[in-house]
Amino acid sequence: MARELKEVQGIIFKRQKYKEADLLAKIITREDGIITLVVKGALRAKSKLSAATLNFSYGTYVIYTSGQGLSNLRTYKEVKQFEGLYNDLENNAYASFILDLIDHAFSEYQPLGKYYNLVDFALNKINNNVDPEMITQIVQMQILSAYGVEPELKKCVICGKETGIFDYSIKLGGIVCSDHFRIENNRLHLKPKETAILRTIGLVPIERLGSISISDETKLATRKAIDKIYRQTVDLNLKTKKFLDELRLFD
Ligand SMILES: [Zn+2]
Repeated sequence: MARELKEVQGIIFKRQKYKEADLLAKIITREDGIITLVVKGALRAKSKLSAATLNFSYGTYVIYTSGQGLSNLRTYKEVKQFEGLYNDLENNAYASFILDLIDHAFSEYQPLGKYYNLVDFALNKINNNVDPEMITQIVQMQILSAYGVEPELKKCVICGKETGIFDYSIKLGGIVCSDHFRIENNRLHLKPKETAILRTIGLVPIERLGSISISDETKLATRKAIDKIYRQTVDLNLKTKKFLDELRLFD
């Protein structure tokens, strides 16, 4: 594909130094996927491009791209920043983890579709100080399918029952009803309401989820369950996750 100028809308994340005075910054977009941008001269004083590509900036960027490899940032229009993510250590850590999760689930330039909406919605919520732990758990459950893991959360994987008391089995890839607790002892042994929360946050489109108020104890249990599901099915080893875990030790 020939190189062309193109306008993309998206959110900037992961800046790093590149050559003398340049930076690389990634941008997540809905239709054009995740793109790594060369930001020329960004490390020089008073660079406007640098200010427009701080982490968690979002808006319209004009890039010179061939649809593969590095693209060049030419200019930008109407750029704003999620200040509540940039300036708050904890929100920053959660948002960075969410962006890292999507970054690892997709190849560059692969359209993100509904997953873009998911991330955009989550970052907006966290930026407005909506429970970042819960928002992150929702993203983790809903982005599993982008990794090819589609847990059965609607009905018991053994008998198809949709109501009752459930637990989660990683081995069977979904929820199991209490009729089979004895034959599937290798389940997570969650309390019924903990499994109910995994089902809700995994199944209900994020924009339809109302405010979820959950006790810290339950939140901790579902966090551990989700971490286990990830360890045993996706096996990522993300620095942003490690940092978040260390940060949460001081909660
Ligand atoms: Zn069953």
